[in-house]
Amino acid sequence: MEKKQFQAESKRLLEMMINSIYTQKEIFLRELISNSSDAIDKIYYRALTDDNLTFNPENYYIKLSVDKENRKLTLTDTGIGMTREDLENNLGVIAKSGSLAFKKENEAKDGHDIIGQFGVGFYSAFMVADHVSVTSRALGEDQAYKWESDGADGYTVEPAEKAEVGTEIVLTIKNNTEDESYDEFLEDYRLRSIVKKYSDFIRYPIKMDTTVRVPKEEAEGEFDEKIEEEQVNSMVPIWRKNKSELTEADYENFYAEKHYGFDKPLSHVHINADGAVVYRSILFIPETPPFDFYSREYEKGLELYANGVLIMNKCADLLPDYFSFVKGMVDSESLSLNISREMLQHDRQLKLIAKNIESKIKSQLKSLQKDDREKYDKFFEAFGRQLKYGVYSDYGTHKDALKDLLMFYSSTEKKLVTLDEYVSRMPEEQKYIYYAAGASHSRIEKLPQTEMVADKGYEILYFTDDIDEFAVKVLLSYNEKEFRSVSAGDLGIESDEEEKQDEAEAAGEKELFEYMKERLAGKVSNVRASKRLRSHPVCLSSDGEVSIEMEKILSMMPDNPNVKADKVLEVNVNHDVFASLKSSLENDKSKLDLYTDLLYNQALLIEGLPIEDPVEFTNMMCKVMV
Ligand code: ADP
Repeated sequence: MEKKQFQAESKRLLEMMINSIYTQKEIFLRELISNSSDAIDKIYYRALTDDNLTFNPENYYIKLSVDKENRKLTLTDTGIGMTREDLENNLGVIAKSGSLAFKKENEAKDGHDIIGQFGVGFYSAFMVADHVSVTSRALGEDQAYKWESDGADGYTVEPAEKAEVGTEIVLTIKNNTEDESYDEFLEDYRLRSIVKKYSDFIRYPIKMDTTVRVPKEEAEGEFDEKIEEEQVNSMVPIWRKNKSELTEADYENFYAEKHYGFDKPLSHVHINADGAVVYRSILFIPETPPFDFYSREYEKGLELYANGVLIMNKCADLLPDYFSFVKGMVDSESLSLNISREMLQHDRQLKLIAKNIESKIKSQLKSLQKDDREKYDKFFEAFGRQLKYGVYSDYGTHKDALKDLLMFYSSTEKKLVTLDEYVSRMPEEQKYIYYAAGASHSRIEKLPQTEMVADKGYEILYFTDDIDEFAVKVLLSYNEKEFRSVSAGDLGIESDEEEKQDEAEAAGEKELFEYMKERLAGKVSNVRASKRLRSHPVCLSSDGEVSIEMEKILSMMPDNPNVKADKVLEVNVNHDVFASLKSSLENDKSKLDLYTDLLYNQALLIEGLPIEDPVEFTNMMCKVMV
């Protein structure tokens, strides 16, 4: 029979899987059972809408049996089954696109990461088996098919006999090697404990044949061996259990079993609400964002159960966008099983639950921030951006709910700090919350614009995310302290006296600045003496609402709104360069033109903006040298 090849990508992934040094090989069973349970769910849902189909719970189960002699472990389910095409499509192709690239990036981490994340669940069977056969008969079909594979070198599919609808998977368990024992996967007690550990709450019975010894009736002291079928799982879902019965590991297993993420959860909340709304919920805050988190493909949502029955995989209405990273489930008795998606959206109970959940997440984050800053830092590194988007989005509707959760890197603390921490440290005379925007901490640190504020000893928040400055423009203030960019036209720092002096000085330089302004017409709106520079000769600042950083970000947007900052060239009148400018105003106008152009280009470079004509710029540099 013709052997079909796995798709190239699948094949490589499969090889990685088989050869993975993955330590917890036992999870293959969790993956297969989870598939079987899903397959039974599918019949269940079909029955909800198909009058010709009834779902009698007694007929649905998953069964494990072992043939030690032939090293075979068989898993049977009475689920919806697979057609020939299903077998080819579902088991002939491992992962959906993008997963291999992702796996490569993460190769250093252990194999746990990808298993299940991209539908490679079934293939974990090859971690323990060197031959796998899947015989399946789909609901509504008479003909069954058998899929077989030894792993990476391909698979075959052929017609087969099967009396019942459902799927039977036979694993030929590998022989023990010097380093690895596989025999354990043929031991009843071991299999039972794996089922207990990972699949206890599966909603259908997981049965196992076990050998029991029964006393012989006729002969005392002698026993007969009898095979008895036994249900291994308790079918009580973890969220129905008492928190006190559960360990951290139970929650982690649940997280992994449910494929909520390929990481470990950073934190969880287990809710048992029986006030105005009655529901149970387990919510997880992941440790790292899923690879597609910051893309359009990412779908937020919680699993929704009505009285223990899954009615929706990802109920988006349960989570606000700014908490879209939260994973988990909600089970409520107050929801109807047959409720349609459209109706669900307007369901009052659901809205109450969503509100309740939102406040639970918020207080969980707040307590992390307060009691476990290391964890909160980790959380914020991963998902802080989402919170900042939350502040910015919907015209700032949620800013009050989120502002306390924000953190920014501090110039003086050299770590992430909350706005509350910043404001409570502010010296009496400091009027504003200062921030500086740039590509990285080290770049911002060197910005000439920060000199004055830093000299004053004031703390500066470093904004390195695109969204940061937009978010504070929406926030406006925190605890009545307004935000102010270190590049803003007015820093709000000087005393009145200094200001008068500045004005006088500036008046004296009026002619020079007017001349330079003329020279840079169309490029900057003004040239003036700087109040913020200490050691640098020039910098750019902006007068209006739009900062230079914002201009940069907006110009990179697909539908470039072409918004420009109102740029001002600031000149340090205490710098030696300034003396040169002044003398060239009197003696050599062409030199002044050259200096003005050079300084303007320098200011652009410092700001990380492209200079208009690099060749011309280098020519100008040479002119200065000769
Ligand atoms: P995932 O379950 O994450 O989608 P798998 O590789 O484990 O990925 O399975 C791929 C697909 O094969 C499943 O989505 C399902 O459609 C089908 N499948 C796997 N096992 C079974 C089963 N026991 N019964 C019916 N369909 C199954």
